Amino acid sequence: MNCRDTLRINAQGHLEIGGIDTVQLVKEFGTPLYVMDEEHIRKMCGIYRQTIEKEYNGNGLVLYASKALSCLAIYKIVEQESLGIDVVSGGELYTALKAGFPTDKIYMHGNNKLVTELQMAIENKIACIVVDNFTELDILDALCQKYGVQQNILLRINPGVEAHTHQYIQTAKVDSKFGFAISNGSAEQFTQYALTKKNLNLQGYHCHIGSQIFERDSFALATDIMLQFIADMQKKYQFEASVLNLGGGYGIWYTDEDVKTNINCYAEYVKTIITQLRKKAKEYNVKEPFLLIEPGRSIVGEAGITLYTVGNIKEIANLKKYIAIDGGMFDNPRYALYQAKYTACIANRANDKATEIVSLAGKCCESGDFICEDIPLAKANIGDIIAVFSTGAYNYAMSSNYNRNLVPPIVLVKKGRAAYIVKPQTFEDIIRNDVLPEYLK
Ligand SMILES: *Cc1c(COP(=O)(O)O)cnc(C)c1O
Repeated sequence: MNCRDTLRINAQGHLEIGGIDTVQLVKEFGTPLYVMDEEHIRKMCGIYRQTIEKEYNGNGLVLYASKALSCLAIYKIVEQESLGIDVVSGGELYTALKAGFPTDKIYMHGNNKLVTELQMAIENKIACIVVDNFTELDILDALCQKYGVQQNILLRINPGVEAHTHQYIQTAKVDSKFGFAISNGSAEQFTQYALTKKNLNLQGYHCHIGSQIFERDSFALATDIMLQFIADMQKKYQFEASVLNLGGGYGIWYTDEDVKTNINCYAEYVKTIITQLRKKAKEYNVKEPFLLIEPGRSIVGEAGITLYTVGNIKEIANLKKYIAIDGGMFDNPRYALYQAKYTACIANRANDKATEIVSLAGKCCESGDFICEDIPLAKANIGDIIAVFSTGAYNYAMSSNYNRNLVPPIVLVKKGRAAYIVKPQTFEDIIRNDVLPEYLK
């Protein structure tokens, strides 16, 4: 088992997180339960911020990609750590605003932002909108004219870097639905067109080469290509980009097939980018841009675990052993979506060696509803608590009420204290928006 510094096994052989025994957490809060370690989140925010401060004289800002986990408390923590955020929908923006997040540190993304979302962004004077396409330039420019404002924008550019990762989470190939490619000239046309817009202030460019990437070279290559593009646009159109947003995508530990991560890995990603940025800015004779990076998964992913209770066990001789748990694709759809891998342990007997190959089956009426398939685990009994690691990103954020299951609550733990940051749903919540028209009654 991987023991992050936030996780340990105590004298009773129980898994502990943030100074609290998980068996105790389950007694108090029940299962399924998301648990987030506050210190780990803060530590990750800190390492990114400090690296930009130290290595780039603070000429940049870390934006937490809040689609990874969006709720009031997380925005508060991120704000206290002096980060900015990016949001990708009206819902995320609304949540951030309700958390009192400073609007001058909010950036907005999306490949098809709704007019209502753009209006919301303008009305709340957010820092910058990352424009994805020509239509959006038209719509946004017209809106800004109406509101009588100048909006800062970046353009989403596709540098065509192949990052070695699962294809569903790869977003910067030439045929991506996001942004425009440099290689076929469309990014240049995009720039030309943006520069004609009177109510938009083009600050620079954005790219995001994918997710769960461990190869630092991919980021160095993307940085080089983006700087070349900046230099090219400067030569051709005298447009000097002052901002470069290089997205997120830094990989985290899910299983031992991944690179073993530690806090320094993340400083190294940023150092790689900054070293390259400085070198290439000089080489291509452009000003060093204000740097934005957008880590999401790496800030909250390893900070989170999910706790489940074993309900039944079904063994199909020589084929498969199912450990049925009280969660499933409604709290974590990532295996069902793209066979994402996770590591698990029995939290109440965390020292027990893994001796079996089992599948953690969810309770949804889908045969593909697994949290993990064919993973090593110690021999489980009914009533045991299962902990699944690295569930802080894209779990709660992707949860649903499928089968009208209740989305589990989230507790935030720190120094032996635990508190809800998302409270449990009730069945009343489930029918809150259901309507019975008169004629059906
Ligand atoms: C998803 C996304 C991120 C965050 O990616 P992670 O892999 O979670 O770090 C950052 N920027 C953009 C534009 C994204 O779409």
